[in-house]
Amino acid sequence: METVPADQRLAEPYLLDWLSSVGLDVHYVRAEGNTLYYRDANGEEIPVVDFAGGYGSLILGHNHPRITAHAQRLLAAGTPVHAQFSRHPYANDVALALNRIIRRELGTDESYAAIFANTGAEAVEAAVKHAELDRGMRLRDLAGELADHLAAARLAVLGGATVAPEAYALAGVERPAGPEDGFGALTAAVERHNARQLDRPPVFLTLEGGFHGKLVGSVQLTHNEGYRAPFAALAAPARFVPAGSPEALKAVVEAERATVLDLVVRDGQVHAVERNSPVFCAFVLEPVQGEGGIHVLTKEFAREIQRICAEIECPVVVDEVQSGMGRTGDFLASSALGLRGDYYTLAKSLGGGIAKTSVMLTRGSLYRPEFELVHSSTFAKDAFSCYVAQEVLEILEADGGAAYRTIRERGEKLEGMLRAVAADHPDAVKDVRGRGLMLGLEFHDQAGSASAAIRESAGLLGYTAAGYLLREHRIRTFPTASAVNTLRFEPSLLLTDAEIRQLEEGLRALCVIFREADGARLTGT
Ligand code: PMP
Repeated sequence: METVPADQRLAEPYLLDWLSSVGLDVHYVRAEGNTLYYRDANGEEIPVVDFAGGYGSLILGHNHPRITAHAQRLLAAGTPVHAQFSRHPYANDVALALNRIIRRELGTDESYAAIFANTGAEAVEAAVKHAELDRGMRLRDLAGELADHLAAARLAVLGGATVAPEAYALAGVERPAGPEDGFGALTAAVERHNARQLDRPPVFLTLEGGFHGKLVGSVQLTHNEGYRAPFAALAAPARFVPAGSPEALKAVVEAERATVLDLVVRDGQVHAVERNSPVFCAFVLEPVQGEGGIHVLTKEFAREIQRICAEIECPVVVDEVQSGMGRTGDFLASSALGLRGDYYTLAKSLGGGIAKTSVMLTRGSLYRPEFELVHSSTFAKDAFSCYVAQEVLEILEADGGAAYRTIRERGEKLEGMLRAVAADHPDAVKDVRGRGLMLGLEFHDQAGSASAAIRESAGLLGYTAAGYLLREHRIRTFPTASAVNTLRFEPSLLLTDAEIRQLEEGLRALCVIFREADGARLTGT
């Protein structure tokens, strides 16, 4: 029951009303491990099992004792939290720890440079900004090289070199009768063509169903039209490729490809050679799509993306904001797919459930140190977050990776239960997907339900289902943001068998409700 007067409800009251309409407007007062607590009307604490897991931020659970003790020590010691533009050895230590883990998983010894930020979307935008800075520098280098080559070709022609006939054809210029004025027309056409190609705006490639944040730039990489379309005028649009379709990817690449003409002198003759122009800024993708409905990228498609991106010199930004930090049983979900990123973004669980921090990693061979002078945030790279992140990484890495083994084992158990429910209720459950502790269960669309209440909630089915699970089974979960028939299950590695059973009971009851079209039971009315 809302007790705050309407004129004093200023912090997203519309969203709150909406949550309340599906029974999700709970005020949690305490959290521990996989459990959140709210107080009932008598002031009693009511435990709720948390399968939403802070939308993926709580691989170690709420208020992990080692992390909270560490945080308390940091605060008690008067650790300077904000000291922008000073030495940050703690940030470097996080970068070193991340590099040790990533090198092990990727089997490489190349370093990744770390740029810290505060949120997932910010890390994605930092990666995109870095990629664009790099693209701009590559464009400038290419323009300089083309100009040098053209000057050398001009000199060669003055010295008596001939021009290969196909150079005119490539430049779309008629082959002249006399060589000298003809060469002038050729260079003018080449320069015009090259200027047009070099000036083209960046092309971003990304996947249908992808989610990369809701800031001005990142939301244009997020497929969900409701989030993206109203803001389309604010930032560069992306080309969305259907996941799993190499043909569609090839078609987009062909349509967007940019080439310049390089005039080179070979054996006393000037030739025009087509070269790639770096029009592709980045391919941004999630190895396991979270908000798009928990979809794991296939190894084959990952390989194809890697191959095509190498060919067109397009850096791959692997967004591990949700799938990283061990969530899928490997530190990086992409490493299990054999996908190697030129950039990685990590956030969510990096802050151990209490700090807000994120990081963007850039492969050493691509890194532009100039970026450090043009990108920063007041709050990024702070001591508190970095020390917490170090502790998180230590916990994940302890005992030869026991945490990853636990995540895999717990994930298998949870997935096994979800599959058993799906097998028993094929009429209600469409699919179970995911890896480790990043799992999703998709319900069939209920638009044809015999119950008016269920039919009417079809557009937000997952939220109504989540409201039911919370009310009747004390389970917290949510649908994925862009695929609302899919419920997400992203608990911490502390997940117990009893908690899995509790979820099973709730899901089985929900399947019966859908089968029996029992709208009253679903909505509690
Ligand atoms: N990328 C991915 C893959 C995400 O799942 C999310 C958040 N769900 C983001 C980026 C954005 O992170 P944040 O909400 O911290 O901005």
